[in-house]
Amino acid sequence: MVNTFLLIVCTFACNTALAQAPHINPWTATEVDQLPPIASLSKGVWLKGELHVHSRHSTESSNNPISKIIAFSKSAGIDFVAITDHDNHVNGDVAHHTWADPEFKSDSVLLFYSAEWTTTRGHGNAFSAVPYDHQKLYDVRDQRDVVVGAVKKQLGIHLSANHPSGKDHFGYSYDMVNSIEVWNSAIWSKNANAIMIWDDMLSSGRKLTGRGGSDAHHGVPDSPDKETKNSYQAKANYVGTPITWVFATSRTTQAVIDALTNGRVCISQNPYAPRVEFYADINQDGKMDMMMGDNAKATGKPVKFRVQLTGKVPADGEYTINIIKNGNPFGSFKTTGKAPMIEFTDSPATVERSYYRVEVQGTPTPYPQVPGSMALSGNMVGLSNPIFFNFDPNF
Ligand SMILES: [Zn+2]
Ligand SMILES: [Zn+2]
Repeated sequence: MVNTFLLIVCTFACNTALAQAPHINPWTATEVDQLPPIASLSKGVWLKGELHVHSRHSTESSNNPISKIIAFSKSAGIDFVAITDHDNHVNGDVAHHTWADPEFKSDSVLLFYSAEWTTTRGHGNAFSAVPYDHQKLYDVRDQRDVVVGAVKKQLGIHLSANHPSGKDHFGYSYDMVNSIEVWNSAIWSKNANAIMIWDDMLSSGRKLTGRGGSDAHHGVPDSPDKETKNSYQAKANYVGTPITWVFATSRTTQAVIDALTNGRVCISQNPYAPRVEFYADINQDGKMDMMMGDNAKATGKPVKFRVQLTGKVPADGEYTINIIKNGNPFGSFKTTGKAPMIEFTDSPATVERSYYRVEVQGTPTPYPQVPGSMALSGNMVGLSNPIFFNFDPNF
């Protein structure tokens, strides 16, 4: 009897205590502290490159020695190339295959130390400006993500999720990658799910760079007898379909990788297509203060955004510029002329995170060396990385 009474009293008291102390989520967004200053918008250089291509060291490739990739890149004015051979084809020893190839050198094209980490749970590209012990990353491929993440950190590499949806989807935590391949190969239409995953990661506070990569495996045969059943691909999907642009502080491999990590990056359908530049003026002085990849504290005042297409634009070119805010369509603008440009204004929330990114569709630009690529890319011209507000740099 006494026990039952005590139980009733306790239940009553505990319920009262619960009612008096509402649940507080310790992870609720709070105002971000002062963010680091935005880097210079003018001190740097725009460089363009290929971030996913296979040479003869990938066993299923054909007619694609490293010398051919580099010579082609030069002919298309490409500044940097990441040759990303399948590491499982050499049991992780890319150092004694791709990187040890006498053809792996260039006086003008910046070459990454890179490989495609090819695992049961998906594929990712490892990028580095200096040689690193890729074997270690290969060896932990089937381990838990905490183990993989620790090795990745120890190696000091940039890790990028490849073709994240569909076959060979990226089945690892996105917390250990610096970028995601949102545009794989000239076939733009198959990238819709990659874009969806990217928006989900961005919306959940992950400041993840979107990048491109042709994933080309096959070169043009030097003579008709070298033709393979896949040789037709070389004229439709090859180095530069799509091309990834970075705004690097200098013309070095390290500066290119740093720009990739910080997101001053956009992607275009090919090396000759215009580049999507995305800026914001946060203090309304008529001067742009930040570009894609940059993160600022929202002031509560309206921000003026500018999208411009830079480079050679066909005289009769017509473009539709779609703005995506926090994963949702925000606005659509039409533009034309020699220097297509649009501006819009919005007030990002003062406490919550916001991001804005750009997709441009319109007149395709010819790519004479890869003439079949235009039909595959359709009217997809290019896309920007986001401009961020209130993203926590310590996330
Ligand atoms: Zn792959
Ligand atoms: Zn690949």
